[in-house]
Amino acid sequence: MLSACTTLKDFVHGSWIGSVAWLDRALMIVIDFLFGPLTGQNTRYYWVFLAQALVLLAIVHARQGGTLRGLARFCFPRGAMTHRSTWLDWQINLANQFVGSSVKLFWRLSLPTLALGVSHAIAAAIGPAPFLIDWNLPALLALTLLVAVGDDFGYYVFHRAAHSIPALWAFHSVHHSAERLTPLVAGRVHPFEMALSEPVRAAAAALVLGPALYFAEGPLNLVTIFGISLTGLIFGALGNQLLHSEAPISFGPRWDRILVSPAIHQLHHSRARRHWDQNLGGLLSVWDWMFGTLVLPVPGEKIEFGIAENVRQPHPHLLAAYTRPFLDIGAGVERSVTRVVRRLRAPPPGKLERP
Ligand SMILES: [Zn+2]
Ligand SMILES: [Zn+2]
Repeated sequence: MLSACTTLKDFVHGSWIGSVAWLDRALMIVIDFLFGPLTGQNTRYYWVFLAQALVLLAIVHARQGGTLRGLARFCFPRGAMTHRSTWLDWQINLANQFVGSSVKLFWRLSLPTLALGVSHAIAAAIGPAPFLIDWNLPALLALTLLVAVGDDFGYYVFHRAAHSIPALWAFHSVHHSAERLTPLVAGRVHPFEMALSEPVRAAAAALVLGPALYFAEGPLNLVTIFGISLTGLIFGALGNQLLHSEAPISFGPRWDRILVSPAIHQLHHSRARRHWDQNLGGLLSVWDWMFGTLVLPVPGEKIEFGIAENVRQPHPHLLAAYTRPFLDIGAGVERSVTRVVRRLRAPPPGKLERP
């Protein structure tokens, strides 16, 4: 994929377009924009992660006795890719390339700095580390997993707040108004939600990485394989890219309590009231199990996706998806102010109003 991108760029440079500086530059931006998510290692749609998802789908399909012909239908259920909700997913994903990804990247890059701050704070509070840990490979593997667990706990905390606090729900509802689940829904996130959630996740991960740095002699590097995040690969193999898919993949009642399977996250997107505000974990469902927000899939249960039953789509197009949350918050503030003003104007109980 990376070489296809480079080849395309070389082709453009070599053509007459290369002699028109501004056009050449504009096309380079467009190519980066289109190929960036697929070629950028550790991005959501990195082709390695997507390939992992396809392999997993093929394995599950084969185990269910599916035919090769049925595989395409299993991977891309009828109508899912052409649904108007999916069309909006494309638009939000593309628009977020401009406004959302930089926010996310900023906090990802800030993690080492935040962790260093935590390490310095510990040193300032209790003095230099009494001993140093030998950060050999097994220790680094454990740390890499622990940082992902910390990050996921931050995600759970923010996600729970997003389902409980009306102002945060206004933004998060954009993700939940998807009516079909494809991997594109993972990027159907309001940029303001990204701006709010990423610091919480980075802070939670820094609370794990910071103490590790305190006990380290020098800088620490989390484990990667050919530059690809180890935890990205592990959770990719466990179907993390398929959380937003309609493939009925469950790990069974025992493991669904520990890890988020596609079936667990599909229930999170169910429009049925009994499923609302449940299954909030991103990688681990153990948080949901611990804090009482877990609902397990029932084999054969039909799930419809969306914000709620009998509710009109609040985000029919990109403009609505981007602006409606602000309008909803404005309306909520207005309602609260009206309520307070009405209460202040009301005569105290027992006092008769003058005729
Ligand atoms: Zn949610
Ligand atoms: Zn989701």
